[in-house]
Amino acid sequence: MAVEQNIFQMAQKQFLNVANKMGLDENVRESLKEPELILEVNLPIDMDDGTTRVFRGYRSQHTHSIGPTKGGIRYHQDVSEDEVKALSMWMTWKCAVMSLPYGGGKGGIIVDPKKLSKHELQHLSRAYIRAIYKMIGPENDVPAPDVNTTGEIMAWMMDEYEKLTGRHAPGVITGKPLCVGGSKGRDTATAMGGWMCLEEAMKKIKLHKKTAAIQGYGNAGYFMAKILQENGFKIIAVSDSKGAIMNENGLDWKKVLEHKQKTTTVVGYPGSKEISNEEILELDVEVLVPAALEEAITGSNAENIKAKIVVELANGPTTPEADEIMFKKGILVIPDILANAGGVTVSYFEWVQNLAGCYWPDEEVHEKLTKKMKEAFNDVYAIMEKNKCKMREAAYRKAIARVSEAFKARR
Ligand code: NAD
Repeated sequence: MAVEQNIFQMAQKQFLNVANKMGLDENVRESLKEPELILEVNLPIDMDDGTTRVFRGYRSQHTHSIGPTKGGIRYHQDVSEDEVKALSMWMTWKCAVMSLPYGGGKGGIIVDPKKLSKHELQHLSRAYIRAIYKMIGPENDVPAPDVNTTGEIMAWMMDEYEKLTGRHAPGVITGKPLCVGGSKGRDTATAMGGWMCLEEAMKKIKLHKKTAAIQGYGNAGYFMAKILQENGFKIIAVSDSKGAIMNENGLDWKKVLEHKQKTTTVVGYPGSKEISNEEILELDVEVLVPAALEEAITGSNAENIKAKIVVELANGPTTPEADEIMFKKGILVIPDILANAGGVTVSYFEWVQNLAGCYWPDEEVHEKLTKKMKEAFNDVYAIMEKNKCKMREAAYRKAIARVSEAFKARR
């Protein structure tokens, strides 16, 4: 993806633009424009071939004004300190938009996990927790999965934390498998939350055809494909890091997933035509779902976006320049800090269940998630209408007001 600007500067710009419009107190603005704490760790790992490799990792805590920091851990070769800082700041706004009692956190390791054996991956995950365990904990900072990290990795991390602290602490991390304190509905939560937002948006904006394109076919992307298909949408195109495919008659989400599991990519799925990772964003579909990485929609392609609604399941997929262009074109962009907040919301439910030691059935999780998502969507939509602004600005307005109120109350 073309990198238009430093990702942390982009996150700061998004915050400062709205903070300035709101006339936010200068001291609050200065405090919130940087994370409270960022830790860099270097992890020597004994590899299967007898060599030792050193991996670099980070954990960033943006603000504790509202509660413990919360946010995933990413494994990717392009992880950087700036990316982790940006993602932790976005987590603050996301939790505040959803009225969750958390600030934002994020972690990451610079690694391509596909190149590690399972044994090496487990070593690395445990080493990362040994390096950061003093700064995390159920009451201080609660990690979760993100790109390339899974429930299995969360279980290893929880286990390592419990060994180090000598006590049972399932609330230290969320996104765990059900058998070690995970929540029902966590695996589908991000996509489900995005769908709930889209359903509300479709009450305001009429779609002529139910067609969609999805960039990224991981946890967020393929569950979104499933939910959209189950709700009568035709999935025209999907993509992953190796390429994009399309079929105007619709792709079957499950068969595409099986193909990806067998071959490691969606590319080559029988009956589909290969297109480029740029083309998928510019297709003539009603709904576009970026569900991969940051800066997918930039100043250079935003003019070509044809979708009526963009549902940002990825974090930071749209640059401020692209946002402006799409706003002028009348495209409704449901911003990441709202559209993908279903994941952190069910993570919050998981944490509550862990602290209470009592677990909820599927229906209860679904009902609570529906209530939270619809309330947040409609709050933000009303702020957007009142201020005649982008939905992103409206979401930031809600979030910044909430965080700054808590920040000031402590002084
Ligand atoms: P994942 O690792 O399960 O999947 C990521 C997918 O993106 C993979 O299919 C990968 O091949 C694809 N991808 C990577 N680079 C690409 C490129 N250049 N073009 C097209 N596809 C590309 O990760 P995920 O959990 O689905 O996360 C995806 C996005 O959603 C991230 O931005 C993440 O921060 C965000 N998100 C995820 C959750 C969650 O609960 N999983 C919650 C909130 C936000």
